[in-house]
Amino acid sequence: MSTAIISDIHGNAVALKSVLQDIESRTEIERIVCLGDIIGYGPEPLECVDLVAEKCAWSLMGNHDFGVLYEPTNFNPGAESAAYWTRDQFDAEQDEEARARRYGFLGKLRVRVVEPAGEITSRALLAVHGSPRKPINEYIFPDDALNSPDKMKQVFDLIEGIAIVGHTHVPGIFTDEPDFYPPGEIGDGERYKFIEGEKAIINVGSVGQPRDLDPRASYAVLDNEGVSFHRAEYTIAETADKIREIPELNDWLADRLYEGR
Ligand code: ZN
Repeated sequence: MSTAIISDIHGNAVALKSVLQDIESRTEIERIVCLGDIIGYGPEPLECVDLVAEKCAWSLMGNHDFGVLYEPTNFNPGAESAAYWTRDQFDAEQDEEARARRYGFLGKLRVRVVEPAGEITSRALLAVHGSPRKPINEYIFPDDALNSPDKMKQVFDLIEGIAIVGHTHVPGIFTDEPDFYPPGEIGDGERYKFIEGEKAIINVGSVGQPRDLDPRASYAVLDNEGVSFHRAEYTIAETADKIREIPELNDWLADRLYEGR
């Protein structure tokens, strides 16, 4: 089965709709899953939650979803202000049923999803927002492959086959050597073919706030043999202008979209 994996939408509905359209054009894709951070930072959190609820087979809880729903912990002032503004948008919904439905959806987001080998894909699949050790909050940075061998060993020890993650907003694949390969370094068509017996961690990048200096929305497609990375263009100005109109959302959140960082 082919699974499209999206993550870190961050309230950017324009980017999300562009990615969903791109996914729909690939007829081999049978389901969409989401690795969390649906909201936080961006100007259209309600629309993003509604779209993910409608289109995705399941979604995980990211640190920003958690921060909006419960308490923003270890957030910088800009992220914290955005989290409180986002919460206000959910609270301001006049339609009681819609408000309860959205909070119900956020409250039921899962922290990890495990799919045994052969169930949906040929390899055992572990899905978390951040890392297998600390699913909601820990980052696995590209540099960790070089600089943090102990951390990488502990992380890989918790993985049976393939792990899919988001959180850093930097797409690529970690192998258990350990090593990290950005999509541009894995050869043909930005597609990575799994090697028998090898473990891998796939970071699918971010739909709504890419940070790998490519401002296009990022997602990945997983099948039995490997993973391919994809980018979708969207009208950045549409999202950026909305951010600038909202005083609680820092202008930097608009500027960074153009730069992809
Ligand atoms: Zn994020």
